[in-house]
Amino acid sequence: MSAPASPESAVAKRRTFAIISHPDAGKTTLTEKLLLFGGAIQLAGEVKAKRNRVSTRSDWMNIEKERGISVVTSVMTFEYGGRVFNLLDTPGHEDFSEDTYRTLTAVDSAVMVIDAARGIEARTRKLFEVCRLRDIPIVTFINKMDRETRDPFDLLDEIEKTLALDTAPVNWPIGRGQHFAGTLDLANNLVRRLDADAEPTPVSGPDDPACIGLLPEHEREAWLEEVMLAQEGLKRFEEAPFREGHLTPVFFGSALKNFGVRDLIDALAAVAPSPRGQEADKRLVAPTEPGMTGFVFKIQANMDPNHRDRIAFMRVCSGRLQRGMKAKLVRTGKPISLTAPQFFFAQDRSIADEAYAGDVVGIPNHGTLRIGDTLTEGEQLAFNGVPSFAPEILRRIKLSDPMKAKKLREALQQMAEEGVVQLFLPNDGSPAIVGVVGALQLDVLKERLKIEYGIPIDYEQSRFNIARWIMSDERGEVDKFVDKNTSAMARDLDGAPVFLAPSAYGLKYEEDRHPAIRFTDIKTYQ
Ligand code: GDP
Repeated sequence: MSAPASPESAVAKRRTFAIISHPDAGKTTLTEKLLLFGGAIQLAGEVKAKRNRVSTRSDWMNIEKERGISVVTSVMTFEYGGRVFNLLDTPGHEDFSEDTYRTLTAVDSAVMVIDAARGIEARTRKLFEVCRLRDIPIVTFINKMDRETRDPFDLLDEIEKTLALDTAPVNWPIGRGQHFAGTLDLANNLVRRLDADAEPTPVSGPDDPACIGLLPEHEREAWLEEVMLAQEGLKRFEEAPFREGHLTPVFFGSALKNFGVRDLIDALAAVAPSPRGQEADKRLVAPTEPGMTGFVFKIQANMDPNHRDRIAFMRVCSGRLQRGMKAKLVRTGKPISLTAPQFFFAQDRSIADEAYAGDVVGIPNHGTLRIGDTLTEGEQLAFNGVPSFAPEILRRIKLSDPMKAKKLREALQQMAEEGVVQLFLPNDGSPAIVGVVGALQLDVLKERLKIEYGIPIDYEQSRFNIARWIMSDERGEVDKFVDKNTSAMARDLDGAPVFLAPSAYGLKYEEDRHPAIRFTDIKTYQ
């Protein structure tokens, strides 16, 4: 067996990141190409296929089987260029859920994939906001340059304006759509050709025939002007503002044609941050500290009624996690034995038996672990909780058997603690409202209430469609507001006051009338 790596060198090698994008921008395609570079060939081409195939893991819940969601794709670990990459999957499309947001609390950087014809779309924007909460550095990949696209300046301008994020294009497309021929590295005058897989060619400048010659005659002059403008007028990449989350390096490419992906992964290897220190209640925990610490950001349940186990996904924040070690679950003070932590796609035994800061391990348990839980080697320390995100869908639960009301309440409480849905208990005593950000969460709740608790339920529309936590810096303001609006107030799982509005108009109305109150869609624990 190889000697254990020192935490310093293990941490320096790691890059833990996620891809944020709107559905169809090309996340799956890019993921496959990244994995190809990483040599995790057995996976490439399978990422999407999993969605369409009945899982062979016989014991995963029905919904997972039907929709092909799999624990396996939650974390993809691969090595490239002397680095260990942990790519955390952010579930999208119909499996979009709060897990998507929570996953972003466990990464150190993110790749933002933008469809070159569509620009910034709603989901990208929302996911970006979650990254911004922690000033996560973002690398931008403008995808589908082989198709008709918008003007590159327009796209950069849109990123700057809608996200308040400076952009620094690293490469510039040589032609677009049909005429997309490659890219020019703006700082180093290197041409990467679409039709050649080789190393990029040095050129004397944009007007070098080896560069400009790739374009049809009638496009050359306009393109030269464009590049001059880009070289002179746009920001250059700088590491400090990137690390602070204020500036994003931008790559143009085509995931489908595997073009620009190597530049992207090289950039991640070179400049993306290694695991950062994590804020805890008492202090900042450095990744290289010897004691193992970590927090749970996602729970995946197994629905087989005979095996009530769950997988808790924990990001290691410091130290060295080893198979078989004992840890302390800080919330309860009880020990928890890490006898069978799951390591993902590790190709090397020395990685498979131990994990360092930035790594994610799956811990099977029977409901002991919750979202936001901290594990340590004994220290009484809690990482600042994983934030809650305002649900986008609210439903009332319709219970056909009134005898089960109490049981339902307990079950909902547990499901909410596990992070399956959010639970809002109206102040006026009316039936509980559940909130989710993705509709699949409602299906999961219904299925689990039926199988695990024997409670069949249905949903009905709530008269509310928007939930916002309310807070204020001025004493007494919140209480005053709550008293005045009893019929629109509820409490969340922690007892925090939540304002419910039927529409955006209703919310705006109250916001305008109560400037001292903040209506927030993200509840953090800082
Ligand atoms: P996701 O929903 O973000 O995971 O997107 P996918 O990776 O599934 O891509 C959505 C569609 O766009 C698929 O049909 C892809 O083949 C296509 N696509 C992805 N990247 C590119 C690209 O660079 N060029 C072109 N022309 N199509 C692409």
